[in-house]
Amino acid sequence: MKTKTRLGQHFLTDGASIERIVEAAQIDKEDLVVEIGPGRGALTGLLIEQSDRVVAIEVDRDLCDLLSNRFGSRLKIVSDDVRRVNLPALVGIEKREKVVLVGNLPYHITGALIRQITDARRVWKRAVITVQREVGQRMIAPPGSKIYGVLSIVTQVRCVAKRLFDLPPAHFYPPPKVHSSVLVLDFEANSAYDIADERRLFGVVRAAFQQRRKMVRNALAGLVDDEILIEANIDGRARPETISIDGFERICRALAMR
Ligand code: SAM
Repeated sequence: MKTKTRLGQHFLTDGASIERIVEAAQIDKEDLVVEIGPGRGALTGLLIEQSDRVVAIEVDRDLCDLLSNRFGSRLKIVSDDVRRVNLPALVGIEKREKVVLVGNLPYHITGALIRQITDARRVWKRAVITVQREVGQRMIAPPGSKIYGVLSIVTQVRCVAKRLFDLPPAHFYPPPKVHSSVLVLDFEANSAYDIADERRLFGVVRAAFQQRRKMVRNALAGLVDDEILIEANIDGRARPETISIDGFERICRALAMR
């Protein structure tokens, strides 16, 4: 069967890496495991040894057939584009309290998937995801770094993310052009942030980073005036990439008082 690069198909072939990823998921027998993009089942084979319930979401019908032949009734397959799957509803049907997500995510839609996964944060215990190394770096970037931005803030507000290890292209077939990182997203750890209104926060953050080279006063012109920035204790001349999540939250709280 030919691999479909348009679907981001790069299959893990390195046994030690496969074991490390599954180990990092710390699965208990009674956990529900949701796997996004199982491919030919490199991770799936080990996942079903760890849990008595694994649900895999795969868009490629040929691969769904292959998985079904390989794993039979031990694997529940959702043959669909994960972006069309209501993840909390899927988990609800399974009636399990603890859910672990595992995914070697297709790189062409990683940004959308990270938002979708973290949107559903209340259903997960943890997620172990493999992403392009640069995406992983952006997810955990602190303020003040050039790669800190919307993805960093969405991730860090919604979970505690940690980079575990990197995977070179040679650990996949066909090898991708990029290096990958495996991250664990902990959804049970207490968030470091107390966000009053997430929609408002992400609206302000998106507006600010649309013009990340500008001073925040100019990047947010029309949305925020000098008074708000003073109330929030933010220097209007600062660049968005230097403003902490707490700083953006103070701007939002000052806006809410208007
Ligand atoms: N987990 C496998 C492995 O590690 O060998 C495959 C990983 S491969 C990087 C990504 C997988 O996601 C492929 O099997 C691909 O067909 C699947 N995929 C791509 N887009 C998808 C989508 N929108 N919804 C569900 N699965 C998708």
